[in-house]
Amino acid sequence: MEHFKNMLARELDKDKVSEKLEKIIFELIFYYINDMVFIMKVDEQFGFTYLFANEPASRHANLSNDYVGKTFEEIMPAQVAKTLQMNYEKVAVHKQTMIFTDEVNLADGSKLTGESILTPVMDEEGIVRYVVSVTRDITVSLMEKNQLIESEQRARSIVDHNLDGVITLDMSGRVVDMNPAGKTITGYSLEQFTSCSIADYIYEEDDCHFQQVFSKTKNGIASETLDCRFIHKNGEIVQVHLKLLPIVINQQVSGIYAIIRDLSQLTKNAEMIAKMSYHDQLTGLPNRRALLKGLDEHLETEKAKTSETALLYIDLDRFKYINDSFGHLVGDEILKKVAERLCQFEYRDYSVYRQGGDEFIILLTFTNREDANRFAQKILDSFKQSFYFDSSEYYITPSIGISLYPYDGQNVESLIKAADEALFRVKEKGKAHFQFYQGNMVKVHRNVVELETHLRKALENDELSLYYQPQVELASNEIISFEGLLRWHSKEFGFISPAEFIPLAEETGLILPIGQWVIDTACSQIKQWSERLNRQFRIAVNISPRQFQDHNLVDTIRLAIVKYDISPELLEVEITEGTMQDTDAAIPILNKLKKLGIMVSVDDFGTGYSSLSYLKQFPIDVLKIDQSFVRDVLTNDKDAAITTTIIHLAKSLGMDVIAEGVERKEQAQFLIEADCAYAQGYYYYRPLPAEEIENIMMLKE
Ligand code: C2E
Ligand code: MG
Ligand code: MG
Repeated sequence: MEHFKNMLARELDKDKVSEKLEKIIFELIFYYINDMVFIMKVDEQFGFTYLFANEPASRHANLSNDYVGKTFEEIMPAQVAKTLQMNYEKVAVHKQTMIFTDEVNLADGSKLTGESILTPVMDEEGIVRYVVSVTRDITVSLMEKNQLIESEQRARSIVDHNLDGVITLDMSGRVVDMNPAGKTITGYSLEQFTSCSIADYIYEEDDCHFQQVFSKTKNGIASETLDCRFIHKNGEIVQVHLKLLPIVINQQVSGIYAIIRDLSQLTKNAEMIAKMSYHDQLTGLPNRRALLKGLDEHLETEKAKTSETALLYIDLDRFKYINDSFGHLVGDEILKKVAERLCQFEYRDYSVYRQGGDEFIILLTFTNREDANRFAQKILDSFKQSFYFDSSEYYITPSIGISLYPYDGQNVESLIKAADEALFRVKEKGKAHFQFYQGNMVKVHRNVVELETHLRKALENDELSLYYQPQVELASNEIISFEGLLRWHSKEFGFISPAEFIPLAEETGLILPIGQWVIDTACSQIKQWSERLNRQFRIAVNISPRQFQDHNLVDTIRLAIVKYDISPELLEVEITEGTMQDTDAAIPILNKLKKLGIMVSVDDFGTGYSSLSYLKQFPIDVLKIDQSFVRDVLTNDKDAAITTTIIHLAKSLGMDVIAEGVERKEQAQFLIEADCAYAQGYYYYRPLPAEEIENIMMLKE
């Protein structure tokens, strides 16, 4: 540079055209250079005055013609002048070129970002006489640079947050960069990739294929997705999808992106989804879908076609009470325990499914009627043991309907349907039992919606009636009272069992008007019999949990008693243990009922899940031993023990006790010996219409 300057000076002198050339240079600087050029004169105290400004400089800085000799303060706003003074002073003091960037306010109000180069010009003694400033407008290039940074950051963020691993390789295959997913999938951090090529981490058998694809990519061809195995840092072999992409910069492949996706996770997810769709979340048992699929597949096999298959449809009795009384959490825990118990039988080949809710299905393949019979009995026996949860004990009974392939159905649907119909019969007959499907079973399942519509009209259409089952004194066989049991003779469907429509009435709230009707009818009957038969008989009516919670119940009963002018102790209400679960709510209602003077009994006693302590607190007159205990009283020691215990318990609490479901003389005998005072059951009388009761009573006289 120095050399060039000297040469130029010599040349200019030599040719005597220096003036001309100086003029050209000056014009160039003054007019044609877009950069702003300022020359400032420096005095001894580092004061700066304007000496020269080219055209763009004086235009941008809005200098007037007489700017020469003026200071920064005289021309620029105070703050700008101060900054300029500082920077120029630095150059003058340190005698060194300096570059700085600042924002310049232009005369037209706009702003530009300027990059200024300040150069000191010294005299022979090294004293700085001038400072030359060249300021370049870098607004656009700065903006472009910022945009570039921003777009790079965006791209980086896509890579960094990608679920796939993105690994940058150089042309030899060495790993030079990697996103976090890459680390997760491979197990290696960037520094830990010590090998010369990523190929060293590919499972040997896949290496050849990988190399082929890699060299294609080096030639600028993006690869098809390649399935291969990667050796994870922990030694495990991970199945991956791999895609190699050339990184092309200025038409040159400068590296390769390897995009890597962990397939083992996907496979695991797919397995999980398959498991979820065929398994019940709560119990882990295969679900209804699995049953449909499994059974159909089984029935397709030749071996199955020549053998028998049994489908046991299991429904837990009164499970709704557990849910209602203890909440779904307890209900769920018990369902899990039931599932476990159902899986514990020793039998060569059987599978348990959860059909939904409290329903389970068991499949016995290569079986026969006797075997299925024994299995069902095993299930019933296994439920004799209580279920424990959270230090409480719960007794549950199952009802089981059984269908047999090939006799009761040829495919899953028809077998389920047949078993369900058999189950329905079990429920109707008093639960906790099992029964095989019989061809002559009429269609029992009606469409619930249709049933509901007709039940709504049943009252209006006079389709409901109250039957009366006599309750006898065991010692004398004398009828002393009755239980009123609801009957529905639908014009549409014929006779429908209360086991079918009472739960529906409960669910829909129809039990409230129906219950009122029952109370009214029973009271009217008490009145009629006292007039016609000249004797006072007590009638018990069943009160469902929903009715019990209805705050009109006490008034309804009071009004009926007044309306028919009967003595209140002739009316009895039967409530279940479940109804009394909420002690705080139940006590005031029971007290109000007792205040009316009516009798209160606990129905199905022993099957509920309440503690015995409530018996002391509640004003109860009668305990009704549930028929499930009475049924096996002669054959099952536990049932016998429960029955006698209830009798003693009632006695010691000063309550009456009545055994339900007495069907045989021997049962009655057992009860007499156990000191039970009253009984009701088919052995004595079935529930009968009022007229038949009257006939019986008349005959007795
Ligand atoms: P529950 O109150 O325990 O009634 C006894 C059930 O056992 C009656 O069934 C009765 O017919 C039946 N039964 C009587 N003796 C024997 C016997 O020796 N062996 C067998 N296997 N069963 C016997 P039903 O009439 O089908 O009623 C079933 C349930 O429907 C009743 O059980 C009761 O919970 C409910 N229910 C009936 N009428 C009404 C009602 O008016 N209101 C409400 N809320 N529920 C009712
Ligand atoms: Mg009852
Ligand atoms: Mg009962």
